[in-house]
Amino acid sequence: MSKNRLETQIAKTKIIATVGPAISSVQKIQQLIRAGVDIFRLNTAHGTCKDLEVLLKIVRDASSLEKRPVGVLLDLAGPKMRLGKIKNDKIECHLHQKLRFVKQKEATEDDLTITYEKLFDEIKKDDKIMLADGVVRLRVLSVSKSKIECEVIQSGIIRSKQGVNLPGVKLSAPSLSTRDKENVKWACSHEIDFVGLSFVRSHKDVVGLKNLIKKYKADIQVISKVEKPEALEDLDKIIEVSDGIMVARGDLGVEIDIARIAVVQKEIISKCAKMSRPVIIATQMLDSMQHSRLPTRAEVTDVSNAILDGADACMLSGETAIGEYPLECVQTMNSIALNTEEVARLQEKHNLDCCALTNKITESTVKAAGSLAEDLGAKLIAVMTKGGISTLLLSKHRYHVPTVGISDSEHILRRMCLYWGVIPLPIHVSRDNTGKEVIKWGKKTGILKAKDRIVVISGTGISTSDHNRISFLEVE
Ligand code: PEP
Repeated sequence: MSKNRLETQIAKTKIIATVGPAISSVQKIQQLIRAGVDIFRLNTAHGTCKDLEVLLKIVRDASSLEKRPVGVLLDLAGPKMRLGKIKNDKIECHLHQKLRFVKQKEATEDDLTITYEKLFDEIKKDDKIMLADGVVRLRVLSVSKSKIECEVIQSGIIRSKQGVNLPGVKLSAPSLSTRDKENVKWACSHEIDFVGLSFVRSHKDVVGLKNLIKKYKADIQVISKVEKPEALEDLDKIIEVSDGIMVARGDLGVEIDIARIAVVQKEIISKCAKMSRPVIIATQMLDSMQHSRLPTRAEVTDVSNAILDGADACMLSGETAIGEYPLECVQTMNSIALNTEEVARLQEKHNLDCCALTNKITESTVKAAGSLAEDLGAKLIAVMTKGGISTLLLSKHRYHVPTVGISDSEHILRRMCLYWGVIPLPIHVSRDNTGKEVIKWGKKTGILKAKDRIVVISGTGISTSDHNRISFLEVE
């Protein structure tokens, strides 16, 4: 069984690890949980619902063996376009070479095909087509009903099934494919905690997914992946209707000028802080560690800067899914986070706008409790929570006193896995006894000793169901 976050050197910044062949056993997932992973990402771009079922069981088994709540994020592929099969799997594209896209059924061995056939109606002369994460670039020379003639304007190698991006081209593809809808249905019947919506273009995409989840009577949090220029134009509304945001830097770095990535990331983090939404920074955070035990200096700096800017969670993709050193990656990320959080303590608190998440009573109670805990040097803040909102608010205020989120709902405990600095605690307490129960638990686990102070947020239940009571207790 893994130790609680308060007993070990686990950072407040949450770590998300993508599951893949490198870690797909219960034992490996257990190791990663102990090293600090809070949420595992299942990528629907690879595999069927049956494959997902196997991976989900591995994660849930590992979590229950470790007696630690762990969230699961199901990442939907969205309207991602891919190349079809390429002759001998690979083409070396030379500058000024001419290439041709044709529809699947008319393709000869030398033609390129694409999974999105409406492209032939939606693309026009001089548009740019980016292949292999933007490494290879094509310019459209001419378009007909069944043929797109292109010229290579940036050389490189392309392979079968690689992603295709069309920056600036307005596509009519729906935000959820038939396969995405099947995956959402599967997620709703398997108590998945978060779904990631790829290539969000407008807040309406998010509302559409939320309605679908509602239709299945499920309660899954929607994480909008910001990776299109259109999403940046509608950012405030997207954040407002989402439960969290992912800065998906892989596709974002192809869809917008790659030189803008850092400033766009900072802008998104800052808006998420103001609007009290958790924000995840994703892709290539420790990329070189796929084949090396050590990160580059630039990667360490990237992770640190994301945390200093206010990221709630950092994500590992290929590093844990297919890399050679998944455990070392998590340990490295945790260590960078611990070192960074020490400095972040000295920085200014987030200046939150009044949040739309809850009401003024809970908002003010949480704020007062947070500063009381800091002023009096409390060891922890304990909150009894129904939906996790109060812990999210404490988290976004960045109080450096650890927050313990108490719930007897596994679902809510797993949701809190995304919230910076929040330790989900599965103990049963009653409204009037929360403080005593927390002290009992703290003494038993050795986390609390005589003279330690704690702050407890709960509700009186008198005339209101909000959080409206703050108690200050000293351990005897
Ligand atoms: C990304 O593009 O950065 C991302 C996280 O999405 P995916 O891994 O699905 O490409």
